Order: sequence, then structure tokens, then C-alpha cells
Amino acid sequence: MENDTRGCLFVISSPSGAGKTTLWQKAAARLDGIERSISMTSRLPRSGEVDGQDYFFVDEQTFKDYIARDCFLEWALVFGTYYGTPRDKVMNLLSRGRDVILIIDVQGAGQVKEKCPEAVLIFIMPPDMETLARRLKDRGTDTDEEIAKRLKIAEQEIARLGDYDYKIINNDLETAVEELKGIIIDIRRTE
Ligand code: 5GP
Repeated sequence: MENDTRGCLFVISSPSGAGKTTLWQKAAARLDGIERSISMTSRLPRSGEVDGQDYFFVDEQTFKDYIARDCFLEWALVFGTYYGTPRDKVMNLLSRGRDVILIIDVQGAGQVKEKCPEAVLIFIMPPDMETLARRLKDRGTDTDEEIAKRLKIAEQEIARLGDYDYKIINNDLETAVEELKGIIIDIRRTE
């Protein structure tokens, strides 16, 4: 930390389909003064996703140019696609005392913890693998093959739970939202 007035950096990870986006949207509506970092990705937008709002969608070469120019706080290849957190925006917000949340995969979370040891890492768990499989199917955005791949990766991600400071089981959404909000409020109090 460069000074005492810096904001807090939170990182949320979870297997794809464990409900982190909905959970965060609901928690964000009950919290002030915290901003979600918009990631850059080389994947194509899903139906309904908006550039600059859900992600900054770029082609693979553009993403690699950003890597070469060291523009990311962290980046990773997830499901064969590039994802990264643009560094400047996050650092500017933190230095202005704003709290920032990154919703990123376990590889990225590990990089953030190395560079910013004070970051608070929160892992969102699905209640069990059957529920996760059902949620991925119900979402209707991925093929069966893609779902099988995501479930396999989910197991590897859950194995990295020990790297995280907090774990929330997303069984009942309302309970999980309040838990996440509680963690953020507690950390802010102690900072
Ligand atoms: P999706 O394609 O389903 O939106 O995201 C796939 C995975 O990429 C999720 O686990 C998501 O958290 C992760 N992800 C999204 N943005 C970033 C990022 O900036 N960095 C990293 N490391 N992972 C990200």
C-alpha cells in the first residue's frame, strides 16, 4: 500500500455458473463506494452483452498487444480465451480511496495476491457439482461439450480454495448476498 487512504481491493472468483455475477449485482445495489473493474477479453460477446459494460471485447492480437505493453494488473487464458484486468483504471480508483472489485478466475486471483498482498480474496462455491451442472444447462449459453469442459475446470478451481481469504456457499442467493456484503463492510471497517 502506498498510503493510508487507498481503497480496498476485493477479488471474487468462482466456477463458471456458480452465480457470481448475479450475486455481485445484488450486493452492489446494497453498497456504496465500490466499483467493479471491467475486464478485457478476446472472446465474442454473448447475446445481450454490451461492450464497455460487461467486458471490453477485443480481438486476440489487440489483447496480445496490451500484454506486450504491460497494461494488465493480471491476465489469464481461461477456456482458451484471454481475459485481463486493465491496470491503470484500478490503480487510479484505489489511489483515490475508492474500493474496487475484480471478478476474475483463480489464475488471475493468484497474480493479484502476489502483486497486491493486501487484496481480499473471496471464493463463491456452488452448493454441489450437480447444482452447478444444472445452472450451466439452464443458462442455455453453452454447448454440452462446453459445459463438460467448464465442469472439469470447476473441479480444478475448487481445489484452489485454500488461496482465498473467504468462502461463500451460494445455496440460498439472499443469504449469500448478505454474506458478501457483510465481508466487504467488515474489511472496510478494519482498514
Ligand atoms: P465468462 O466468459 O463466463 O464471462 O468468464 C469466464 C471466466 O473468466 C470466469 O471465471 C471469469 O471470472 C473469468 N474472468 C473474467 N474476467 C477476467 C479477468 O479480467 N481476468 C481473469 N483472470 N479472469 C477473468
